[in-house]
Amino acid sequence: MSVHEHKKLLEELGVDVERHAKMMEMGYEGYKNQFMSQTNRPKAMEYFDWFMSEVQGQRIAEINELRKNKKPAIGAFCIFVPEEIIVGAGGACFGLCGGSPATIADAETELPRNICPLIKSAYGFKLQKTCAYTQSADFIYGETTCEAKKKTWELLNKHHPVKVMNIPHMKREKDLKMWKEELSEFKEHMEEITKKPLTFEEMKNGVKIVNEKRFALQRLDRLRSMNGSDVIPISAKDALFITQISFLDDPIRFTQKLNDLCDELEQRVKENNSVYKKETPRLMVLGTPFALPNWKLHTAVETSGGAIVNEESCIGHRYYKDNVDIDEIKDEDSLMEKLLQKYSSVDCACFTPNTPRIDKILQMYKDRKLDGVIYYSLSFCHTYNVEAKLVTDALEKEGIPALVIESDYSPEDAGQIKTRVEAFLESINFKKMKKN
Ligand code: SF4
Ligand code: SF4
Repeated sequence: MSVHEHKKLLEELGVDVERHAKMMEMGYEGYKNQFMSQTNRPKAMEYFDWFMSEVQGQRIAEINELRKNKKPAIGAFCIFVPEEIIVGAGGACFGLCGGSPATIADAETELPRNICPLIKSAYGFKLQKTCAYTQSADFIYGETTCEAKKKTWELLNKHHPVKVMNIPHMKREKDLKMWKEELSEFKEHMEEITKKPLTFEEMKNGVKIVNEKRFALQRLDRLRSMNGSDVIPISAKDALFITQISFLDDPIRFTQKLNDLCDELEQRVKENNSVYKKETPRLMVLGTPFALPNWKLHTAVETSGGAIVNEESCIGHRYYKDNVDIDEIKDEDSLMEKLLQKYSSVDCACFTPNTPRIDKILQMYKDRKLDGVIYYSLSFCHTYNVEAKLVTDALEKEGIPALVIESDYSPEDAGQIKTRVEAFLESINFKKMKKN
């Protein structure tokens, strides 16, 4: 593992190098077992395997090279943080470690036990100093999407600089006006780091780069779930992992490598080369994001004879579904307006009302010719857990098979989840048999 090669840099960043190296070794072993052992993998997955081996090594060195040149390095927990502005300033926007159970006990020394595992895991990484991304961040950018997060920022700020973006919980005109002001303030915070004004052309360039990344992710999504045949050319785990690292990698390199992979997947579709057996039930997962390395549900489904072909999650469709339309814009104000349009189209459960999310789910179900959905949410995530009732009522009305799973990051319920997924898949297979 190349983290050893970057020991000096990691020490300078204040990383607890020994503990970090142990965690990385375990994480990489888990990746090798779960990902690299898969058969019939696309060849272009080699790049993503390489990235995993360098996730806390080479990529950290790249980010810190940017910092040396006074470019911003911003850690985020939410897709409302406008990465276009950071990329436009020549910097790096990255998701922080927060999908592991290994740091939760440390976090519980300062945070209550009954808040969501994502927040606790991320907070624990900061206390342990075992995430080189967190240690590399000029600021952590928080937002006010849920109660647990907005209070956690006040505590986290005692350990690392945190700035907070005020995201409204409704989308009325007055709420959107405030949100646009937040975007302008965000830009000013980037200028504080670069110590120079961020120009309209630079911001436009940032939008173009991130649009290209989203186009590539949309292409992968179509190839997985809407290619017009029943061929699924890539496993759900691989597709999830690619989306997870879209929050970490250099956006230009990532886009190029993902487009290379999509070329190969297109060829596989032409050749009828599927990684799943014919008639494998096609599922969509709905709900809270799957922070790296949370692969528990995908593993349960794949080892039970099902295929997940899409994630309606922020590590998934909600992240890349909309691009920022900048073709006709002439000034900064209209650029901010377009950014606002894009971000306010995100149908996070923090909004009320949030009916566009339900409409989108029903449409996705039809477009992707699915057999069922799994509503997945993290324990103590009140917004997604409460919204589950509204979503599952709508699914029931349409006769769509649905399974609701609430879980955390511990491995303890993996067996129970697998049993429930198996029973769900059996009932789907039975229905399909009766229909034919
Ligand atoms: S689910 Fe909501 S709060 Fe969480 S990352 Fe997505 S937009 Fe942000
Ligand atoms: S998973 Fe839910 S509770 Fe946890 S940070 Fe996201 S919105 Fe908040």
